[in-house]
Amino acid sequence: MATATASAPASCHVDPEIAVNPVLSPLMLQRMERLEVLRCEGCGAPVPIGTGKDVHCQYCGVEFPVPDAYAQMRQAEIQRDAGRTQAHALFRTLSRPPGAIARAWGSVSTGCIWLVLWPLAFVVDALLIVKGLEIVSRNIGVTLYEVWSNTQIFTGVGAAMYVTLGVPAVFGIYGNRRTRSRQQLQAALAALPPDRAGGPARCRSCSAPLDFPDGATGVACLYCSADNLLTMPEAWVSRLRSSASHLVTTVEEVALQDRHVRSKERRSLAWQLGWLAIFIPVLAGFGFVIDRDTSTFPPPWKVAIAGDRTMIPAIRKDTAKWDTYIPPDWSSRAGLTFFAFDKSERNTTAKGTVYFTRSYLVPLRRGETLELTAGDFPDEARALGFTFRTQASAVFGDAWHQEGEDVYLYPDRTASYVAPRSAWYRVDILLVDDIPPGRQFRVGWKVAS
Ligand SMILES: [Zn+2]
Ligand SMILES: [Zn+2]
Repeated sequence: MATATASAPASCHVDPEIAVNPVLSPLMLQRMERLEVLRCEGCGAPVPIGTGKDVHCQYCGVEFPVPDAYAQMRQAEIQRDAGRTQAHALFRTLSRPPGAIARAWGSVSTGCIWLVLWPLAFVVDALLIVKGLEIVSRNIGVTLYEVWSNTQIFTGVGAAMYVTLGVPAVFGIYGNRRTRSRQQLQAALAALPPDRAGGPARCRSCSAPLDFPDGATGVACLYCSADNLLTMPEAWVSRLRSSASHLVTTVEEVALQDRHVRSKERRSLAWQLGWLAIFIPVLAGFGFVIDRDTSTFPPPWKVAIAGDRTMIPAIRKDTAKWDTYIPPDWSSRAGLTFFAFDKSERNTTAKGTVYFTRSYLVPLRRGETLELTAGDFPDEARALGFTFRTQASAVFGDAWHQEGEDVYLYPDRTASYVAPRSAWYRVDILLVDDIPPGRQFRVGWKVAS
């Protein structure tokens, strides 16, 4: 019924609600028994009593003295209002019109949009975190996704996703709920708009014209004592007004309700933050399972770095590659040992230049020096070239970037390479001289820190 009146602002009629509003406090009833809404002596429109001795009708211009009974009622309300400091503070708090973000956020439903956004946000966030890991790795001289165990990586990714996705989402939901419950309270307290253009705002409970000074945020109705909030944009509250609780009379009651709702929502916020954190151990467990798989290629960096180093062929041993030549592992312990290219490692460029290549993987710590020692080389072989590369991408596979300058090893000489980062290195060995395959080089290597 209140909304029916509100939606017909152009009409000016005697509001029947004064007599039929079912929700009236004893105080309201007491006052109502005494007085009807003051009407203009000239045109009969309900008019605000105002603050002076006379009432000035803003519709027809007639002036007439405020009847004694109304003046007494006004005086009683002034006295009551003087003691309501808490109410005034609450009016100021509740009357803050919602910001644009709150309005937009409040209108986003928690429904189907999240079903689409969530998986998308999940994937995008995971990719951003992996990208972040790459950037960090590049800048700190440690390729984290190789140096860390899978348990550590997955724990880190889980924690990062919890912080960047879980926590903001939970707080977003909380903020949304707060905005909406605040909106409901504001709708419950909002004064009715004027029933005709230029008229005064009306009491949400009894529709009587409201008297309030400029800049007031809230006011109690003179006739029924219901508190009214004056600054709410009609668009913000109109949709909720019919469903809002009209059982409350004062702003203090509304604030009490709000505190109850808020403490309930805070408990649910804490609970959601708690159970979402389960995501971290779940991911860690996933990493742990991967770590238990001993057949990974290359083997875990941490395991490979312990004790004597071994260069392992950069080709994964695989039955599908049964006819591919795979060189033997090359241990640093072997000292000056024999090294020979296979005929399958011989290549020819488009211009007809012959070269040999072989690739090994070796784990190195930042600052370590890989020292190469050469003995005899085959007659036509002038030097072996060594290029050191590390993985640039954690996700998109084989992107090997050269680290530092090429190293050349001449017969009966030494050469060294200082590792700029802790990572798995691919060592590409190159010979640009055309020699018969199988000719032996004497080469050794070791790692010095
Ligand atoms: Zn009038
Ligand atoms: Zn009222």
